[in-house]
Amino acid sequence: MMACICNNFGIVECLLMRNHDIDLPHRADCVCDMCYKTANLVSANIRRLDTYRALSSEAFLWLSTSEPMLAAIQLSRDLQTCESTETQHKDIYQKLQQNVQNFATSLVQNCWNMEEVDVLLQQPDGSSISDAHLPYPRVRLALDGEMRQLTANLNVQMGIENKWHGEWRDYGKNAMYDAGRMLCHTVFFPILALLHAVSAGRLVQSFNYPVARFASYATSYFSFLAAIVVLRIVTAFTTTQHERTVLSNSMFCLIF
Ligand SMILES: [Zn+2]
Repeated sequence: MMACICNNFGIVECLLMRNHDIDLPHRADCVCDMCYKTANLVSANIRRLDTYRALSSEAFLWLSTSEPMLAAIQLSRDLQTCESTETQHKDIYQKLQQNVQNFATSLVQNCWNMEEVDVLLQQPDGSSISDAHLPYPRVRLALDGEMRQLTANLNVQMGIENKWHGEWRDYGKNAMYDAGRMLCHTVFFPILALLHAVSAGRLVQSFNYPVARFASYATSYFSFLAAIVVLRIVTAFTTTQHERTVLSNSMFCLIF
C-alpha cells in the first residue's frame, strides 16, 4: 500500500509480480455484519481511506488491472459514495476522485488517433446488458459515474460527434448539402422510409446514421401532434355526427 500511495511504479510492479495484492475495502455504505460492528471505529475509517488512497494511485490502476479505464470509472463511483457518507474525510475523497478522473482522462487524451479512442470507449465490459449495444458503453459508465472531465475531453467529444454523424462525415460544412439531406428526412421522410423498408436498407442507408434517424423521428412525432391538434380543431367546428365520423376516419388514415 505504501508503494502505491507513493506511486512508485517499480516497487508496485515488483510486488505484484510476487503475487502481493490489496483487498478491496467495503464501501462506506456497506451494511454487512463486519461493517456494522466497526461502523463507528475511527481506525476502520482511516484504514478504508488509506486503502482507497492506494487503489486510486496511477501505479496500481495501471499495473494491477487489465482494464485501467473501467477500474478508474468503478473506483470513481465508490469514492463518490464514500465522499457523501464519510463527511469528515470529504476533502480527501474529493481529491482522490479528481486523481482518478485525471488518470482516466489522460488515457483518452494520449490516444494517437480516433481508432484508438474507439477501441478504448467501445469496450462493453462492466456495462449493463441494455447499455452494451451502445456505440460507446464506456462513456455511458462515465456519465453514470459523473466523470465530467472525462466526458468533456476533446477526443471523447470528437468520437461522439463522429458516431452522431455516421457516414455523413462532411455534415456541417456545406449548408446547401445539409439542407438537402434534412429535406429528404423530413418532407420526403414517408417515401424514404418506404424505400428503406422495401429494400431492407439497401437503397436508403442514411437511416443507419443517428442524426438522420433523429430528424426522421422528430418529423414523425411533430406530424402526429399536428394531426391530433388539427383533428381536435376541425371536430369542434363540425355540426353533424356524420361529418364528424367521416372526418375522424380520414384523419385516422392520415395519422396512420
Ligand atoms: Zn461491509
